[in-house]
Amino acid sequence: MLIKPFENRIFLSSPTMHGDELVYIKKAYETNWVSTVGENIDEIEKQIAEKTGCKYAVALSSGTCAIHMCLKAAGVRKNDIVFVSDMTFNATVNPIIYEGATPVFIDCEYESWNMDYKALEKAFEIYPDTKVVLCANLYSTSADYDKISEVCQKHSAILIEDAAETLGAKFKNKQTGSFGKYNAISFNGNKIITGSSGGMFLTDSYEDACKVMKWSTQSQEDTAWYQNEEIGYNYRMSNVVAGVVRGQLPYLEEHIAKKKKIYERYKQGFKRLPLKMNPYYEKTSEPNFWLSCIIINKEAMCRQTRNEREAFYEKEAGKTCPTEIYEKLEKYNVESRPLWKPMHLQPLFKDNDFVTADGLYDSDCRTKITDVGSDLFDRGLCLPSDIKMTEEEQDIIIEIIKSCFE
Ligand SMILES: *Cc1c(COP(=O)(O)O)cnc(C)c1O
Repeated sequence: MLIKPFENRIFLSSPTMHGDELVYIKKAYETNWVSTVGENIDEIEKQIAEKTGCKYAVALSSGTCAIHMCLKAAGVRKNDIVFVSDMTFNATVNPIIYEGATPVFIDCEYESWNMDYKALEKAFEIYPDTKVVLCANLYSTSADYDKISEVCQKHSAILIEDAAETLGAKFKNKQTGSFGKYNAISFNGNKIITGSSGGMFLTDSYEDACKVMKWSTQSQEDTAWYQNEEIGYNYRMSNVVAGVVRGQLPYLEEHIAKKKKIYERYKQGFKRLPLKMNPYYEKTSEPNFWLSCIIINKEAMCRQTRNEREAFYEKEAGKTCPTEIYEKLEKYNVESRPLWKPMHLQPLFKDNDFVTADGLYDSDCRTKITDVGSDLFDRGLCLPSDIKMTEEEQDIIIEIIKSCFE
């Protein structure tokens, strides 16, 4: 193959600024509202509540603390079990540990790569007293909230939605971040829009929004002196960060449209290759296309092994694996990343239970498998989905990937 490495690295998803952010940061500076109170915070809480259709939004310093507040609001306590997506970022799970509770991991499904309601149902058979389910939406698309909500209702469990990655995505015409009793989104630097950092807690409950507001500002009581009656957290968003979010918000739909184009271009470019793009419910879901990912068909996988640190593969003609593609893209200064390593495979969680549906077959429906998450991790890769990437650059990336299948 041709080509020199790209001079400027091509990223998975880096911040894309528009200039409006500076206007709101400057205003915060000039009026001296640079701390955790101010117009930018009020405004983005209003706008995100409107966008998602939730009644109340509380701006926080990260998506992780938004998830933590969701768990607190749901009443999760020491030694409680929480059912949580197995295939996700550790930020979904860590707040369960902060509360001294025990995560039980629920396998994902091939249809959306999100929580499998059949595995969830089975988990309730094993742990019938579980009261909280935390479901993450991966890479741009919603879980099947018809099914997940139904199972939760049947068992009187509270649903929490980790919509950190899916702001602007919809399921059955309803925005993600609104399916749980409590919901979290993120404005981390690599998300669809960013505040440089930041997150938001969303709910329809006024009472719970007030609680989170209090907890996130050190649980200060309504007294003149520092009165401490509950444990507190320093989790509130700064008005400067909120200025960045406020400047980004008008561009959310534009970002989604550009990301969708990237996804479609990959899909078109890979038409004749033995792989699939990250799937979504085509009839009911509208993803935000945050990251484009691939999963290589089983018959096109060469031998790949991974230990806790490194990956190895044996090249075979006509076959490849995520490791080969990853390494090759690196040579061209292009960032890619294996899919989230499932939580049940993480050394940190080796003693936690993991529940799968019964009778699982791989997505090509040929061989029996133990779980879906490990199979996706084995065969999947996140591709550069940065909206500043040009079509020409993307075409070169497509060619590099194609060459791995030779
Ligand atoms: C990014 C992310 C988070 C955490 O958000 P931060 O703002 O980085 O704390 C949580 N869950 C998922 C699924 C994420 O992708």
